[in-house]
Amino acid sequence: MSWKIGIPRALFYHTYYPLWSTFFEALGGEVIVSPPTNKVILDQGVKSVVDETCLPVKVFFGHVATLCETKIDYLFVPRLISVEKRAYICPKFMGLPDMLRASKIKHPPLIKPVINKVKSTNVNSFLWDCASPFTGKWLNIKKAWQEAKQEQEKYEQKLIRETEHNDLNILILGHDYNLYDHYLNLGLWEKLQNLGCSIITPAQISKEERDHQLKKFPKFVFWTYGRNLLGSVYSFIEKPGIKGVINLTSFGCGIDSFIDSLIIRRLIEHQIPYLNIIIDEHTGEAGLLTRVEAFVDIIRWRRDDHQNYFPAHGYNVGSCERDARIHGVRCNCTPTSH
Ligand code: SF4
Repeated sequence: MSWKIGIPRALFYHTYYPLWSTFFEALGGEVIVSPPTNKVILDQGVKSVVDETCLPVKVFFGHVATLCETKIDYLFVPRLISVEKRAYICPKFMGLPDMLRASKIKHPPLIKPVINKVKSTNVNSFLWDCASPFTGKWLNIKKAWQEAKQEQEKYEQKLIRETEHNDLNILILGHDYNLYDHYLNLGLWEKLQNLGCSIITPAQISKEERDHQLKKFPKFVFWTYGRNLLGSVYSFIEKPGIKGVINLTSFGCGIDSFIDSLIIRRLIEHQIPYLNIIIDEHTGEAGLLTRVEAFVDIIRWRRDDHQNYFPAHGYNVGSCERDARIHGVRCNCTPTSH
C-alpha cells in the first residue's frame, strides 16, 4: 500500500532533503513537501508557538500546520541532537516533537527518530524508528539508506564548487534554513547580485577543510552551525578575494550571539568589512536593501581608495596595542587622544 509522508520545508529540510526524500521514496512512499515559505505560513507559525521562539522555528511550525491540512499519512519531525561527534545542533531542534505536542496543531502519526551522533554512531536504531511503520525487512532499509546517503553526498559535492570571483566577492554566513529560504532572507542573494556582487557561502567548503581550519581556534567549537560559520570565515579569509562578510542571523538565536562576536574579532584582524543582519518576523525588505546598498558602497569606496571604511568611532578605541601586534605600527596617541 502506498503511503504519504510530509516533510516541512524548513530547518533540516534545507540541509538534508536529498537524504530523507530519497530514503522514504526508496522505501516505497510518496514525499509531500510544504510549499515555499510565504506570509500565510509565517503567520500560522507565529500563532502556533510561544513568542520567544526564534524565527526559523516559528516558520517550521507554519510549514507543519500547512502540511497537516493536506492528506498525509505520516509527518517527519526528527529529534535532531547531533550530526557529528562532539558537536550539537541546537536545543530547539531536539525539542521539535515536544513543541509540536504542546501546540494546537492536529497532526498525523509522527516519524520522529532520535539522531544523536555524540552518543552513538550506530544508525540501526534510528533507521528502525524511521522505517518500521513501512517495512520490517532490514535488507530494504539498508539499501534505501545507502541510496539516500549517496544522493546527499552528490548534493553536497555540487555545493562545493569553485568560487566565481569578481571584484566584489561577498561571503554570506547563515544557517542553511535562513540562507536558502528566499522569503526569510528577503531575497538577499538577488539584491547582492543586482549590486554586482558574487556570492560565496559556507557550503562551498568541505567538512574536512572546515575542521582543519577550526584547529586554529583555541577551543573546540561544539555547535555544528557555529562550526560551519566560523570554519568558513577562517577558510575564506585566507583565500584572496573576499571583500566583505554578511552574517544573516535570527533574532533569539543563542548560538549566533556567541559565534557572531568570534567572527567579528577574526574579521577585524584581517580588516574585512562586516554586516550583521538580524531577521525576525517584522524585518522589512526596504530596510534590508538600504543596509545592503550602504555596505556595498562602503566596500566600493574602500576598493577605489575613496576613503577608509572604518568609522572614527569604535575601531581605534583601545586598539593601539592590537595594531602594533598585527601591523607592527604604533601610533603616537596618548591614552585620551582617541
Ligand atoms: S540554531 Fe538558532 S536559529 Fe537555529 S533553531 Fe536554534 S536558536 Fe533557532
